[in-house]
Amino acid sequence: MGVLRNVIVPAVFLAVLSLQVTCEPRSYDGYKVIRIKVNSEDDVRFLRTLQTSNGQLDFWDFPSDLMVPTDQADTIESQLVSQGLKFDVWIHDVQKLIDGQFTKSPKDGFNAAGARIQSTDPHYFDYEIYHRWAEIDQWVKNTAAKYPTLAEEFIIGRSYEKRAMRALKVGVDTGNEKWGAWYNGGIHAREWVSPATVMWMTNQFLEDYKNNVTEVVTLLETFDLYVLPVMNPDGYEYTWTDERLWRKTRSINLGSNCMGTDPNRNFAYEWGGIGASADPCSIVFRGPYPHSEIEIKDVTDFIRERGKTQKFKLYIDFHSYSQLWLSSWGYTYDLPDDYETMYDQMTVGCEAIKSVHNKTYVYGAGSSVLYATAGSSKDWGYGVMGVPYSYTVELRDTGEYGFVLPEDQILPTCQEMYAGLKAALQFNIDNPYP
Ligand SMILES: [Zn+2]
Repeated sequence: MGVLRNVIVPAVFLAVLSLQVTCEPRSYDGYKVIRIKVNSEDDVRFLRTLQTSNGQLDFWDFPSDLMVPTDQADTIESQLVSQGLKFDVWIHDVQKLIDGQFTKSPKDGFNAAGARIQSTDPHYFDYEIYHRWAEIDQWVKNTAAKYPTLAEEFIIGRSYEKRAMRALKVGVDTGNEKWGAWYNGGIHAREWVSPATVMWMTNQFLEDYKNNVTEVVTLLETFDLYVLPVMNPDGYEYTWTDERLWRKTRSINLGSNCMGTDPNRNFAYEWGGIGASADPCSIVFRGPYPHSEIEIKDVTDFIRERGKTQKFKLYIDFHSYSQLWLSSWGYTYDLPDDYETMYDQMTVGCEAIKSVHNKTYVYGAGSSVLYATAGSSKDWGYGVMGVPYSYTVELRDTGEYGFVLPEDQILPTCQEMYAGLKAALQFNIDNPYP
């Protein structure tokens, strides 16, 4: 009987395993990304209508960078030409970029279908490669265990597919009142460099504190950092297993075959306005109602609750790509009351970023630098929570690889952003108002 059981169990296990191996991710063979030369408000309006009328249209960066599926190239390009819009082919084959993104991952870390295998070693963590969600979750636990007096893990809630939203609180218990600062990565599933950067920076704060780096000692004595590496874990894992360029959550939309909500259009501040879609098939679908996504509800509940006893000074939602540092407002072209100090802080942050690898990050109010977006995280942070400095930061690059940034750019991205984040935190100490 014992022998029989030994035979059956591996057979079942293998059957399950082979099912996973044969399930190949979506191919982006021949998909292009074109860069559109937008000259007028009229052009923007036209592209917005195009985006709304074709829910599947994937603007990597609205209104300029548009991914064009092979079989839709003729239709889309003739629509652009008829509007008098000019464009260049920016990326010739998206699948080629995807195949080339793992420049630093170990060669034996992939299965026969070319998918990354999850590491089984709980202590294995290489900051210069991209990680599956479970590895990141393990990283949170390991980091808390490694720095028991500085880092504490906690679960904010569970995602739609019941993944733990495991976060870290990092700081020194001084016995005094401390300010809060929140930062997260991975709200948009395909922006892989953002969780990678969030983890690297958090580890660097801890290492620098341990090594008595004066600047960091001051920061961790002044702030409690609340860190969530992946805000949209279901979407993130789906980008590894099924669709590398998935952006939204993975919730089911009643009455539609299209899944997911754009979590960064789901926040309860000016929800549903410009730059958000009511079409569940759109990649900027706002969701059926504000905070419909459990991930957004749980995070906003947490910050609101914690904000009752601790003043949050900084809130950063890390995205990629475009190299931008954006303040409120997103939903309107009007500037917020505190814009002057926000602008000074963004200046300090972007100068610090530039000093590391000479990369330029453009900064300003989201609606004027990028495009208007209603229901975004930064507007919620500023407008609802009253966090004086509430931002969206778009990490590298400026479109050469877009969302598919090769692994050899993870480290420099982290290094420059760490300088920017430290400068932004220090700015709060130097300018205690507001
Ligand atoms: Zn994003």
